Amino acid sequence: MSGPLDTLQEAFQHAIDYRTGLEDRACAPRKSYHEMRDIFAEPLPETGSDGVAVIRDLVARGDQGLMPMAHPRFFGWVLGASHPAGVAADWLASAWGQNTGGHTSSPTTAAVEEIAAGWILDILDLPRQASVGFVTGASSGNLVGLAAARGKTMRAHGWDPDADGLFGAPELHVFIGDDGHTSVFSALQLLGLGPKRAIRIDTDRQGRMNPQHLARETRARAGPKIIIGQAGQINSGAFDPFDDLVAIAAETGAWLHVDAAFGLWARANPDLKPLTSGLEGADSWATDGHKWLQTPFDTGYAIVRHPQDHLRAMTAWASYLPVTDEADRVPAQLVPELSRRARGLPTWAILKTLGREGVAEMIGRHCAVARHMAERLAAAPGIRVMNDVVLNQVTVSFGDPDASMEERKKQTESVIDTAVATGKLFVGGGQWHGEWVMRISVSSQNISLADADIAVGAILAAWETVRTADTA
Ligand SMILES: *Cc1c(COP(=O)(O)O)cnc(C)c1O
Repeated sequence: MSGPLDTLQEAFQHAIDYRTGLEDRACAPRKSYHEMRDIFAEPLPETGSDGVAVIRDLVARGDQGLMPMAHPRFFGWVLGASHPAGVAADWLASAWGQNTGGHTSSPTTAAVEEIAAGWILDILDLPRQASVGFVTGASSGNLVGLAAARGKTMRAHGWDPDADGLFGAPELHVFIGDDGHTSVFSALQLLGLGPKRAIRIDTDRQGRMNPQHLARETRARAGPKIIIGQAGQINSGAFDPFDDLVAIAAETGAWLHVDAAFGLWARANPDLKPLTSGLEGADSWATDGHKWLQTPFDTGYAIVRHPQDHLRAMTAWASYLPVTDEADRVPAQLVPELSRRARGLPTWAILKTLGREGVAEMIGRHCAVARHMAERLAAAPGIRVMNDVVLNQVTVSFGDPDASMEERKKQTESVIDTAVATGKLFVGGGQWHGEWVMRISVSSQNISLADADIAVGAILAAWETVRTADTA
């Protein structure tokens, strides 16, 4: 019978083995979700088991259905690769067993989070007086930013939704581009602002909001207003024209919130920073740690220029909670949760491991890899790159643009399946402006140009296979 702490050693050894062998693995799960459900299906155990045996069992069965998200040639969705420094700090977050709701409950993790919050504002060059809540991701970051926006804009019109709710409230107008991310609409739903009510603003072929349309719509309405911009569209990587959006928000008294899940990180690289021009003039920003910064899942940041509105939107009071000096930052007062994980630790550890230079290098390299892949793919017959590759996203379509939608969907899916079946890379698909596409997101920490060439080779070969099979 092993001791309880032997389980930690067992998991630790497996983690090392897994990460050591990661690049030799096929870059896709070996078994599907349904297969894995069968593999794990069993009734609740009536009696306990040896801890080490439990971890071994989890590894032996679970290994087959793992998606190698930390693999250098993983291009799915937009995800990071769980940097080892972040994973190590995250282990300590669990092993130390700290609840980071308050600073009295966990002085170390609350302090580290506060320092990391300052570093985040520094590396992203956002207003240094802004408040930063450590949330689970950009979805929750959008929720927090929009909650602060709802409070401040409505109070300016004589109504406090944080105290009185929305019954009988003046109408709040929300403006959002047609290519906004689904998580923003979820946030509107949760906040009682009604995603269907949001006023949709036209976007161009890259998914950027049309500022003339926005100006017309915002000027035409009185009352509280929120504009929701986007930095880094998930398909194109494009940025809204923030200089215009900031000016329109100022003129019309609107709060400007920006969904900047990965695009905000362009600010960490001096060559890419101009893409975000004006972004620093917004009122709130949601971004992820677990995408471009490579923290392990889950970490995101809700950043608000007006700390009092941020606090008012999130704070819950109870007599048993420690009363604190108002000047002190209380982690729980900036996020929806009270008890929570020490998310500041991985952020702190990765920023300290990479430094400003390391982050800039990584972001720049990922964008260079994206441009390289786009150039090589676009040079092949029958392949079109659908976006201006300004950042780390490459959206690719295959085949005859005049073929039927059904045919094009089938072809694109076959290319993706054939490429992924080689085990050399993972990519996903989707629809972008009415076209079926392969989506290539370059955001895996270690990727090199050599990896990019291996991936491009596999995609070109897959396209050749599908194309010749279709004409045969
Ligand atoms: C990923 C993403 C989100 C959601 O972030 P989560 O971390 O999954 O909660 C929101 N907006 C954009 C543009 C994204 O790319």
